[in-house]
Amino acid sequence: MQQSSAILCDGCGQPAGPGHIARRLKRLENMTRYRPIHVQALFLAATGPAADTDYLYSALGDFAGEGAEILRALGIEVSGRAVEAALTEFQRRGYVLAYVLECAQANGSAAAHREALQQRVFATIARIRRSLKPKRIVLLGNELTEFVPQLAAANLEATLILREGRPFEWNELGDRLLTKELTAPLEAL
Ligand SMILES: [Zn+2]
Repeated sequence: MQQSSAILCDGCGQPAGPGHIARRLKRLENMTRYRPIHVQALFLAATGPAADTDYLYSALGDFAGEGAEILRALGIEVSGRAVEAALTEFQRRGYVLAYVLECAQANGSAAAHREALQQRVFATIARIRRSLKPKRIVLLGNELTEFVPQLAAANLEATLILREGRPFEWNELGDRLLTKELTAPLEAL
């Protein structure tokens, strides 16, 4: 029972030291600030970015990495605008970005990473059902492909938005792509 005294991080389920927990709490605090009461769309990706500045809600001065990508795909203007203004628009539209593993996985093989995702998907489904309660779920990144059937069968009372039956790829999120995808099902509901 080597890990009996280790704390398990509530964001990723991994044994975590004080540094890991502190980073997790900071990200959670930043995300909570912009969490809408009613979630129109949940953007769900596999694993939080390694750099805190690439995490949408922790952007400093400018958006970078995945944070920048998702805003671009949604047509949310960032240039000449404070980070807070763009995040407020994201919130006002009822959007939330979440990860199956909220924390980047520091070490470990692809297989270990996949296993961590598999172990965490149940907790993610519970979080969606009890807390986030989105109307739509947009899956991002091919790491989530294997979980599509599980999420579709989970009775989440949300429309799963996919591209040809698969999650959207980060590298194919063009300008306003997600805006187009989100307006179509919205009209159909
Ligand atoms: Zn964690």
